[in-house]
Amino acid sequence: MYRKHSLNDTLTSFRGLSFPYTRRKGSPLRYTATVGIGGNLGDVKRRFQHLFFHLQKEKHVVLLQTSLILKNPPFGYTNQDDFFNSIMIIKTNMQAKDFLAYLMRLEKKFGRTRSFPNAPRTLDLDIIFFDNKIINTKKLTLPHPAWSQRESVVIPLASLHQ
Ligand code: ADP
Ligand code: MG
Repeated sequence: MYRKHSLNDTLTSFRGLSFPYTRRKGSPLRYTATVGIGGNLGDVKRRFQHLFFHLQKEKHVVLLQTSLILKNPPFGYTNQDDFFNSIMIIKTNMQAKDFLAYLMRLEKKFGRTRSFPNAPRTLDLDIIFFDNKIINTKKLTLPHPAWSQRESVVIPLASLHQ
């Protein structure tokens, strides 16, 4: 179902189904959000696929692109399974903080519970960029802190069609 490609000792890319994907038509919605998606509990690639179909049905967002899926080791708390990560480019008319609240509702819908920082998770949805906005509030930092040092972000991002 997925074409698997080993990038080095620890990183593996997966391509298949809706990853990567590029929508044919554009979207008139106002903002462009770059969303990092990740998880390491259960069948994560299958969950990404469910998320993809769910987003296609949603009225307030338009999914423009998805990247390949990257399997990569955990950081922070390392005694847990490898993570699967991908990037989605989403158009929306929601403001950044409303979009974050929307993503957190989606995480819940896909079974996310919060235990401790960097804990295993079914689905993590992070806003990497929101147009070119710079925000530093307690609830929201944009661009996402340290995104450029994370292989889980940079490699899927680099695989997107320009
Ligand atoms: P992490 O993604 O850092 O592993 P969580 O998903 O549990 O951890 O998120 C913790 C908090 O990070 C959220 O409650 C959210 O308010 C905050 N946060 C700050 N900036 C962002 C961002 N750009 N995208 C997503 N969450 C963010
Ligand atoms: Mg998060």
